[in-house]
Amino acid sequence: MSDLYARHRAVAPDWLALYYEDPIEITHGEGRHVWDASGRRYLDFFGGILTTMTAHALPEVTKAVSEQAGRIIHSSTLYLNRPMVELAERIAQLSGIPDARVFFTTSGTEANDTALLLATTYRRSNTVLAMRNSYHGRSFSAIGITGNRGWSPTSLSPLQTLYVHGGVRTRGPFAHLSDAEFTAACVEDLRDLLGHTRPPAALIAEPVQGVGGFTSPPDGLYAAFRDVLKEHGILWIADEVQTGWGRTGDHFWGWQAHGRSGPPDIVTFAKGIGNGMSVGGVVARAEIMNCLDANSISTFGGTQITMAAGLANLTYLLEHDLQGNARRVGGLLIERLRSVAAQLPGVREVRGRGLMIGVELARPGTDEADPQAAAAVLEAARDGGLLIGKGGGHNTSALRIAPPLSLTVAEAEEGAAILEHALRGAC
Ligand code: PLP
Repeated sequence: MSDLYARHRAVAPDWLALYYEDPIEITHGEGRHVWDASGRRYLDFFGGILTTMTAHALPEVTKAVSEQAGRIIHSSTLYLNRPMVELAERIAQLSGIPDARVFFTTSGTEANDTALLLATTYRRSNTVLAMRNSYHGRSFSAIGITGNRGWSPTSLSPLQTLYVHGGVRTRGPFAHLSDAEFTAACVEDLRDLLGHTRPPAALIAEPVQGVGGFTSPPDGLYAAFRDVLKEHGILWIADEVQTGWGRTGDHFWGWQAHGRSGPPDIVTFAKGIGNGMSVGGVVARAEIMNCLDANSISTFGGTQITMAAGLANLTYLLEHDLQGNARRVGGLLIERLRSVAAQLPGVREVRGRGLMIGVELARPGTDEADPQAAAAVLEAARDGGLLIGKGGGHNTSALRIAPPLSLTVAEAEEGAAILEHALRGAC
């Protein structure tokens, strides 16, 4: 350890670009808990950053990784390797996409970049539709299409992007409408937009917006969009980076809440599948996946060690029905937080499904977002031994709760009690 590091340990070292000014240093984890360098234990209600999908230090994943490391960590992804073939087969089957092909990347950003490359090439258009308040990653193309100003440090973009209403209901012109009216208004907005533009390649959308604050449209909105998109030959890309693998409890993929008109043309995934290992990817119909006229590989996408982790993690998730656990425990947690929210004027709404729960804060008596309260709750929760996230547009006024999907009822209760205390102090 360098002297410089030792001196800076309590605050962020100034040679590192970081998100928080005073981040804690995590040294290890087990189950749903992590420990910092001072030995303090935290209940992890953010699952890393929705990356620890099953549990920290899950023995099944650790064993698969260490056994794979003893054989070979990485060879050229020009060649086949057994864990990659098996994981791709499982994901292709689970995707619901007919004649599906899988391409592995190392992150959600790279997965979305690949999806945008495929869609724009297939449709020969560099215009895309994206949702207001969306986030799809931090490459130049992904940042360029984000509909979330707080996450868009450049206004330049290689793509022309048109933004559609529908991802957020908390505020905005359609907030007061019923589900059916909201859906009809968003569909009309989409139709109107398409009447004024050259045909876009695709609509890219998160079924539940992630960094946007865990907001979701009424079930069926994207199915209604799909009918319109099909009329124009426009592809539907579902960004499942946060919503995939059963996180929303009711469904294995977030798009299934909108599944009336069948699966999307392209699904992107990342975050939880590797349980912390860098695994991302794209699933698409073969004719779309094969449309590029030059070869491309991802040097680290599909490498043995990450694929072994993904395979062991997915197997555990399915065998232990963690989707069902997310539905049951998440349902209890949402109920518990709603009963707290009912007593606090600064909590505007508790929303979500499964273990993807957003708590929206507003200045008491108003509809105005309250980012200061969100920051205060985050800090108080951390002091109480609970890690959560925040998000929600350029006014980050939503708390985000997304623990590993193996969360127990007792842990849900423990976390809710800490959060209740933090909320009572700030709202
Ligand atoms: N898409 C969504 C919905 C995300 O939430 C994120 C990251 O938060 C990304 C894409 C980018 O993924 P990554 O950070 O792995 O590049």
